[in-house]
Amino acid sequence: MIDLKLFKKYILMFLVISIGLLGCSQIGTKEYKKSIFALNTYITLTAYGGKNTPDILDEVTERIVEIENRMSTEIATSDVALINKNAGKVPVEVHDDTFYVIERALWYCDMSDGAFDITIYPIVKLWDITGDNPRVPDKEEIEALLPLVDYRQVILDRDEKTVFLSKAGMGIDLGAIAKGYATDEAVRILKENGIEHALLNLGGNIAVIGDKPDGTPWRIGVRDPREEETGEEYMAIAELQDTSIVSSGDYERFLKAEYEKTGVRYHHIFDPRTGYPADVGLMATSIVADHSIDADALSTCVFIMGADRGMDFLAKVQKGNGICIDKDKYVYISSKLEDIIEITGGEYRLSK
Ligand code: ADP
Ligand code: MG
Repeated sequence: MIDLKLFKKYILMFLVISIGLLGCSQIGTKEYKKSIFALNTYITLTAYGGKNTPDILDEVTERIVEIENRMSTEIATSDVALINKNAGKVPVEVHDDTFYVIERALWYCDMSDGAFDITIYPIVKLWDITGDNPRVPDKEEIEALLPLVDYRQVILDRDEKTVFLSKAGMGIDLGAIAKGYATDEAVRILKENGIEHALLNLGGNIAVIGDKPDGTPWRIGVRDPREEETGEEYMAIAELQDTSIVSSGDYERFLKAEYEKTGVRYHHIFDPRTGYPADVGLMATSIVADHSIDADALSTCVFIMGADRGMDFLAKVQKGNGICIDKDKYVYISSKLEDIIEITGGEYRLSK
């Protein structure tokens, strides 16, 4: 189901402040764009290159769809769907892509002490926040499923390339990490084909290749998580080169009707301990990392952990740096990002 409003939001989510096309330094280099809907989101790829660039972009989108076909919970033939279907029954042999992403995900499950947990799927299904029948379940329903949420029950066999969920009813969901992997693969293909400047937006998972064609850094807007209150689309601008920035928050996918009735935002990022949407005082977080798979996993981890624990976690794992925005509109920034992220939203201020 394609929601036009959501489409517009995604397109605008990380507006490139100026494309700088006129400054193209390489002769024969032009801007090429391609948009598709995949991985349950809108994807826009912008690359600067020669006449063969559209073919390269086709190759990239084919690769993204291939990853979706392996990792979506909704595609019955995907590795993930088969793993889930065979929970408590038999190990399932999967493609190298899927095995790699699950291994990386389990590393984050472990490092985050279970704040990140890909076995959250039964809870995700129960709430169905991003599906056709979203609702607030009863506490009893949630508690009945919590014993199925335990990443330590995912059994990998590296030699056989199999994945086994040890209890019937368990399920995995790679929604917090697969887009990051797809973004890294897109970057790899573009670079291997000689592309030196590109901006990729996979539903808010952003990666930039090189700098802009005019030699200045890409200027990426960080979404204001309370746009409806502040009237501003962005609350900060990040100047980036050859890196990825990924955001997670309570503002994009939540139960709007419930929010209007009760003031509570039931969103799509769950605390695996409680089975309820994570609520530790953050509205949003953005992570900058060399690899988008890390930025994606980390943004979900940090959002669930909150500002203090989340910032300590970033320092511990050393895979990326971040910015956290709390509900009082205080902003926490990793020291390494202080010089490249500028707060532009008037209502936001740096925490002490
Ligand atoms: P988005 O993909 O919407 O930009 P995230 O990367 O934060 O945001 O991923 C959210 C998705 O991750 C949810 O839709 C759900 O599929 C999954 N998820 C929710 N809670 C958790 C969790 N605690 N650990 C791992 N994955 C989660
Ligand atoms: Mg994520």
